[in-house]
Amino acid sequence: MATLIRNVRIFDGEGLLEGEHSVLIEGDRIASVLPATSQGEVAGAYVIEGAGRTLMPGMVEAHAHLTWGSSVEKIYHQFILPADELKIATWRNARVLLDHGFTSAYSAGALGDGIEVDLARAIEAGETPGPRLIPSTLERSPEGAEGVETGDVFNGRGPDAIRNFVSYCKDQGIGSIKLVVSGEDALKPGTAKDVLYTDEEMAAAGEAAREAGLWIATHAYYPKAIDLALKAGARIIYHASYANEAAADAMIAAKDATFYAPSPGVSIAALEATPPPHIDMSHMKASAAERMELEAKLVPALKARGMRILIGGDYGFPFNPIGRNARDLQIFVDHFGYSPVEALKAATALGGELMGLDVGRVKEGWLADLLLVDGDPTQDVSILQDKARIAMIMKGGVLHKAPAA
Ligand SMILES: [Zn+2]
Repeated sequence: MATLIRNVRIFDGEGLLEGEHSVLIEGDRIASVLPATSQGEVAGAYVIEGAGRTLMPGMVEAHAHLTWGSSVEKIYHQFILPADELKIATWRNARVLLDHGFTSAYSAGALGDGIEVDLARAIEAGETPGPRLIPSTLERSPEGAEGVETGDVFNGRGPDAIRNFVSYCKDQGIGSIKLVVSGEDALKPGTAKDVLYTDEEMAAAGEAAREAGLWIATHAYYPKAIDLALKAGARIIYHASYANEAAADAMIAAKDATFYAPSPGVSIAALEATPPPHIDMSHMKASAAERMELEAKLVPALKARGMRILIGGDYGFPFNPIGRNARDLQIFVDHFGYSPVEALKAATALGGELMGLDVGRVKEGWLADLLLVDGDPTQDVSILQDKARIAMIMKGGVLHKAPAA
């Protein structure tokens, strides 16, 4: 059945269209964007009255950790959950993310092997609500991650160990592998400078992933790590906070193939957090303050040179729960000098390019992943943080949330 959403202002992924329009959806795609006056001509369509609200593409979370348990509906104070609880939390997080207007998510790594592949299949089959998901598995670091049950394939040194990992991931149906190329100051002070992989290992990762048709996502802070990520052909680089001029130049040289997501959400949340006395967040806060200061210069400079910079930022910690993801848009405005329209484009059209799908635009022939927003997000992106203001959520032409009658 066709659906007609009429009398809406449209943010199409790039900008606000002039005047009001109607949008016709057939099957899972946008059939046409019509003038508002042609609303009566589409016989038999299910009609949604826009009443002058704003229709925009569903948002894309470029740095999703759906297995990090905490969401706005349930906070966990432990990071690693038992397997049965992990599945419940992950399935819930997918729904929470969709409830908050995110119709696509690119995984930045999971706390369980296989779980995101199962989730992506379940979402695709309509068994459970959630965004379109590029699934990943355990984040790979050569020595393994503390407290995470890894198994041989997820660590080990040398190019062959990496090739084994990539071919395992291909067999499992993973879309993007996550390589932890830099250490992490917020967890282990002083380690962000560390480069965890050798040149040979990263070259092998790049080659194997290309052959397998897998994407690579990278956690990288300093120039050497950024350089390795780029040479491996990473689809996306997270953080990059300590990029120097040469690293920024290298990112720009790769800008047609590689996306950048600074991930400020977790930094701002760490700075604002007021933990109980027995939890020491001082290192995390110091690291966050330093990174925000650096990124406040780096991000606008890279944007001005045409880098595709995306929102998304390590949501899933108790102090940064899933469901607050749209905060990143406001942070881009407040800290990185984005206009609201530029922040929206980062969250929609550019995120859609990361997904490699026809999403992130309101455009004829594109997938009907759409939000109807009460208000004008092109003036004020903060309204996207209030899920009550997202009157309608549609994914692939199917309503996840119907507007109140
Ligand atoms: Zn992350």
